[in-house]
Amino acid sequence: MKGGPFPFFDLTRQNHLFRRPIEAALKRVVSSGNFILGPEVARFEKEFARFCGVPYGVGVASGTDALELALKALGIGPGDLVATVSLTFLSTVDAIRKVGARPLFVDVDPATCTMDPGHLESLLKKMPASRRKRIKAILPVHLYGHPCDMTALGRMAKREGWSIVEDCAQAHGAKWGSRRVGSFGDLGCFSFYPTKNLGAFGDAGMVVTSSAALEKQLRLLRFQGREEKDRQRVLGNNSRLDEIQAAVLRIKLKHLTRWIQRRRELAALYRQALRGAPVQLPVEVAGAYHTYHLFCIQTPRREQLRKALAARRIPTAVHYRIPVHRQPAHRDDSAGFPVRLPVTDQVSRRILSLPLFPEMTAAEVGRVCRAVTSF
Ligand SMILES: *Cc1c(COP(=O)(O)O)cnc(C)c1O
Repeated sequence: MKGGPFPFFDLTRQNHLFRRPIEAALKRVVSSGNFILGPEVARFEKEFARFCGVPYGVGVASGTDALELALKALGIGPGDLVATVSLTFLSTVDAIRKVGARPLFVDVDPATCTMDPGHLESLLKKMPASRRKRIKAILPVHLYGHPCDMTALGRMAKREGWSIVEDCAQAHGAKWGSRRVGSFGDLGCFSFYPTKNLGAFGDAGMVVTSSAALEKQLRLLRFQGREEKDRQRVLGNNSRLDEIQAAVLRIKLKHLTRWIQRRRELAALYRQALRGAPVQLPVEVAGAYHTYHLFCIQTPRREQLRKALAARRIPTAVHYRIPVHRQPAHRDDSAGFPVRLPVTDQVSRRILSLPLFPEMTAAEVGRVCRAVTSF
């Protein structure tokens, strides 16, 4: 394969690991005739919540829905502001808009690319009291697998009386101190989209929580707001997790810790081979346990490097070229309040994701690194 085409991400390489258990699980689901919110979902909710270190998990149809339902469960709606970042996947901000609230965009830390608590403090200081009062929650994103500074953000949220919803879609198993992400906020939202560190065979998501009341509310909201078969208490969504996805995820969850370790080993190989190269490498700050959903480097010559790698048949990706506040659909999000996010803008011009997945070989990492250093 030397010099041949190269995958950015290859899911087929892990399938041999669980072809048999997955076939058995699928057979079990098919013969049960129970396809939505059955015993596999109930077990996966318990197992994944335990993995995160919290008592409750509520399976939903996607990570996007997890975020929207989390905000709904907290009662966030029109007139409210939710502090979040613009350097993220669209869903984070879409969820805020879909419940009728508006985002308050916070800049990111230039090293970790996650919400900068210092910038949030400076926004608070400059903001009229009437606007400040409208902030009801923060929605930090553990981007690329690196956890946010949950000590600083948690302290601010407590002081201000804000709820916390964590976007953990890229960070299953990541830790801040000794605790896993999803366990810091009132609610933690996960995606099991196939390419995430824990991926289903289709769309799937979950909200985890330590609050029995929020768990109950989420169970209502994901199923049309029905509290029993023919009684609808609130308006909800149709956002249910299905048995086939839950069965697959239960099998894959057993491998997750090992996959994360492997991602970290490959990241260390990248780091070693790229030391001295004129690119900014991803960091893991003190107290963080990075799960390397993505291995992102930064360079002012991003487009040239991308082309040079493509010429050597090495695929790369950009997360994210257009930050959400610059998306046409989100142009009016801040309702007349100017948005200045210089670090976000700079990162979006310089960031580049190199291939990384647990089944990648050391030789493949070597090939990518040689291509980067020769450029
Ligand atoms: C993938 C992702 C989501 C959305 O998850 P889906 O399951 O695709 O709906 C939300 N936030 C972030 C940061 C993501 O990476």
